[in-house]
Amino acid sequence: KSFNLAAFTASIAGIEVITEASQVAKLSQDYHTFSPVLTPKLEGKIADIVVRPDNQDEVIQVAAACAKHKIPITVRGAGTGNYGQCVPLYGGVILDMTRMQSICWVKPGVARVQAGVKLAALDKKAREIGWEMRMAPSTYRTATIGGFIAGGSGGIGSIQYGLMADKGNLLALQVVTLEDEPRVIELRAEDVQKANHAWGINGIITEVEIPLGPAYPWAEVIVTFDEFMSAVKFGKALADSDGMIKKEIGVFAAPIPQYFTALRQYIPNGKHAALLIVAESSLELLPGLIREFNGEVTYSKSASETGKGAQLAEYTWNHTTLHARTADTSITYLQSIFPSDNLKTIEHMYNHFGAEVMMHLEFIRFKGGIANPALQLVRYTTEERLNEIIRYHEQHGVFIANPHSYFIEDGWKRAIDPEHLKFKLQVDPYGLMNPGKSKVLPFNP
Ligand code: FAD
Repeated sequence: KSFNLAAFTASIAGIEVITEASQVAKLSQDYHTFSPVLTPKLEGKIADIVVRPDNQDEVIQVAAACAKHKIPITVRGAGTGNYGQCVPLYGGVILDMTRMQSICWVKPGVARVQAGVKLAALDKKAREIGWEMRMAPSTYRTATIGGFIAGGSGGIGSIQYGLMADKGNLLALQVVTLEDEPRVIELRAEDVQKANHAWGINGIITEVEIPLGPAYPWAEVIVTFDEFMSAVKFGKALADSDGMIKKEIGVFAAPIPQYFTALRQYIPNGKHAALLIVAESSLELLPGLIREFNGEVTYSKSASETGKGAQLAEYTWNHTTLHARTADTSITYLQSIFPSDNLKTIEHMYNHFGAEVMMHLEFIRFKGGIANPALQLVRYTTEERLNEIIRYHEQHGVFIANPHSYFIEDGWKRAIDPEHLKFKLQVDPYGLMNPGKSKVLPFNP
């Protein structure tokens, strides 16, 4: 490390910093620990200092100081990412955005907020005028909007609106550059893709303008099934019912529901389950659909009751993995997307791997149709076996976004987005932002 930390600290005097070793170590972590492959690789990767700006001027000062002293900078929201996205591989600064929590404005259908606003806080504010976030990860209580855009992909709500990367789900981003004289750039319309899902490598997002959806009273329902494929077919039929408004369809093969301690009483041992969040106005149609696939409703909460007790959303997406790992830390997971004519492939994988790979399917709107992302739970033995399982899926046409790698290129797109690269060269000429996360961008300040 050749940078002069003392000079850096002096040049940002007045801005909150954290230097206490255990705090800095904690804020250098994220949830890559779900991966037994990433955990040893990222062990001991700790920043030198955490800086917590309160406003855009302070962000600009920090950016200028990092550029001047050539100090690596890793932006952090709530640190709930799963791929070590905010673990600093080369030390330096963690820029903790969580103090920037202003909601600039909320209007019908659109909101503008600072990057550190928590998703749940924005949702609550929007609901005051009858709107809500279109989609949120299952970490919505803690995750920040900047972190979701830079590091997440979709979640609860994606069955209606698709993924964050889809055109129209993000309206504008305000970005501070890492130059000697940092600029503030407003990216609008198509240009937002220059920094959308870029893992904090190409500019510090300070403000976000995001479209909202109409807020519905949402009911929560658990349906159990004797046959796994009946649960899958039910999920697909509900997903295909365009007139029924829903926010979440998650399908879990036995024994996954047994890891859901607070819900276990509603899901008998050996049963497969669908966890649903459905608009109350669509509920009347649900029993007919459930009967068709021999399901049984074992839990139903009206919208007015859903604030209390367990929230079904916090058992879906990667929260499923969290609950399983609470019971058994040897469990890890895959991230996949099954091809659209998928039911046979899903059934094949379910039978082929048996207890070793437990099927957890989500349903999303995807390019005008329905797709099945899956976050299967894997009983981990060795890295070699994990790779074999991944290869087997790929050979059968299942797309794997590998959550056991910290390289952008192993994720959803299989390559760093050329738009991200072009923009990076403009906004981070010294290559200081989150260095080491791309295979084509060596750390070379
Ligand atoms: P962080 O983890 O702090 O950051 C994520 C990335 O964004 C990092 O690369 C960071 O450098 C960058 N970044 C953060 N803020 C900024 C900024 N202001 N400017 C530029 N770059 C920035 N993800 C989903 O998409 N859907 C899910 O349903 C989901 N479920 C999850 C469940 C669990 C239990 C866990 C642990 C994770 C889950 N995730 C999910 C991953 C993660 O929680 C989300 O993507 C979340 O939105 C990340 O927000 P964060 O504030 O924690 O971001």
